[in-house]
Amino acid sequence: MVDILAVTAHPDDLEICAGGLFLKAKKEGKKTGLIICTRGESGGYAEQAMREQEAKKAVELLGLDYFRHLNFPDAAVFFSEDAVQTIIPLLRECSPKILLTLHQDDYHPDHVAVSRIVDAATFVGGLNKYSSDGSDWKPKELLYMCGDPRTNKRKPDIFINIDDVWDEKLACCNAHASQNVTEYAVKMAQWYGMLGQCNYAEALYTRNPLTLSTADSLF
Ligand SMILES: [Zn+2]
Repeated sequence: MVDILAVTAHPDDLEICAGGLFLKAKKEGKKTGLIICTRGESGGYAEQAMREQEAKKAVELLGLDYFRHLNFPDAAVFFSEDAVQTIIPLLRECSPKILLTLHQDDYHPDHVAVSRIVDAATFVGGLNKYSSDGSDWKPKELLYMCGDPRTNKRKPDIFINIDDVWDEKLACCNAHASQNVTEYAVKMAQWYGMLGQCNYAEALYTRNPLTLSTADSLF
């Protein structure tokens, strides 16, 4: 069981969009997990083996408790029953309290597809017929992260101040050396930092409004 699980399309998605959040969660004693759907073989800058190596290095830096690297074809992920059925047992295995995936307004068609697949897997996987032990799995929250603020014109619902883990986030992005993503990640974190009134931030979107059970949660 993990506290927070991310399901992404490509090996560098989590580090760019929400690596800081995962580093913070780990420092705060939470169990973190990641499922990457593709091996990144169509990225154009590197061979599959190198992308797998880079993903492994980033996973170590993030200190993840759970990691699965799936074999969906890169640049050819589509919403399908097969894809949903592949994800459901993994979600139930991890039983995350918080589930995070990519936003449907992202630029990359794989991101859009993974977002839809996770949405459906979360709903269908919570149905009784998928439970062999009578357990009723449902995440407390399903959240989305944004890989491209140009195509996603919605205002984020949550900003995570990542100033305290900034150097570690950079190291995680640098692990994907073949993709040259660090400069992009810096610009995005600065943009969200400006909106979130800190130096560097990551942006999250809620599926549903958040419900607080204690007044203390407000403070
Ligand atoms: Zn991606």
